[in-house]
Amino acid sequence: MNRKVIIIGSGPAGLTAALYAGRANLNPLVFEGNQPGGQLTITTDVENYPGFPEGVQGPEMMDLFRKQAQRFGAETQLKNVTKVDLSKYPFKVWVNQDLFTGESIIISTGASARMLGLESEKELMGYGVSTCATCDGYFFQNKKLMVVGGGDSAMEEAIFLTKFASEIWIVHRRDQLRASKIMQDRMEKNPKIQVHWNSVIQEIKGSRESGVKEVIVEDTLTGKTREESCDGVFLAIGHIPNVSLFKDILNMDKNGYIITKDGRTSTSIPGVFACGDVQDHVYRQAVTAAGSGCQAAIDAEHYLEEKS
Ligand code: NAP
Repeated sequence: MNRKVIIIGSGPAGLTAALYAGRANLNPLVFEGNQPGGQLTITTDVENYPGFPEGVQGPEMMDLFRKQAQRFGAETQLKNVTKVDLSKYPFKVWVNQDLFTGESIIISTGASARMLGLESEKELMGYGVSTCATCDGYFFQNKKLMVVGGGDSAMEEAIFLTKFASEIWIVHRRDQLRASKIMQDRMEKNPKIQVHWNSVIQEIKGSRESGVKEVIVEDTLTGKTREESCDGVFLAIGHIPNVSLFKDILNMDKNGYIITKDGRTSTSIPGVFACGDVQDHVYRQAVTAAGSGCQAAIDAEHYLEEKS
């Protein structure tokens, strides 16, 4: 089935691209991927998206984005793209054995949580180790938790987790937080949270049967290690772009973000556009992702007009 526009990914960028492409009568097809609605579906209150003065829940906001795009003719499918061929026109997109062709492609596959790279973290993911406080916080009533990271996400997760946990340690590798002042202030005011500076988690101990029992923490200044008991570890150390479909196909920077050029959403292949967190390591906000999704749809529309 040939389409004018195929959109891969369904966060604020992809669904805004779908809204604009829909309103341009391009009947876009959106493959929603593994996490329909993207990262906002696993966040708490979204307080900084303009137009919601009281804040809004992430999943609710993404449902609204989807409905708005569908209203203008976007088709959304709960499918995961497994392969692409962008070397010939029209572009080819596969969902397992099913082939779709598109005259233009908009990539909005977002980013995923970064991991520490420990074997024990992989082993215990979902068994006491988590990258999503909203998803898993409830399981830690009156427990002691570690939150790793010093950015806004770490502050947000730690504050959220105080609803359930009795005690939260923020484990940060430096002696200064990266988080914004307002989030730092909120964290500091919370009596359940303490920050452990210049500290990294070397090992997480526990089992799938009993969950997390303790962590080995290294002091980065002295190199000394200590064992600390805890019931769970939440990782909030940033994200990596979801680009596995496009490796060796599109130009990327050294961190794997798709390079867009000339102040637009154009990638190294004409007719293929990228928007949202998969191409933005600087702003990474829902509102900037949505803005770039709008740009991608307009860029695709211009491209199709020039080609016809
Ligand atoms: P971030 O700002 O990149 O912070 C990541 C943190 O993890 C940094 O403190 C970093 O340490 C640490 N880190 C990275 N790799 C590590 C490793 N291997 N081991 C230990 N620590 C590691 O990411 P983020 O907090 O996810 O925020 C991303 C963007 O979203 C930011 O622009 C942020 O403002 C925004 N955001 C906003 C809100 C809000 O306004 N409510 C909430 C969440 C996120 P260093 O500091 O030493 O580099």
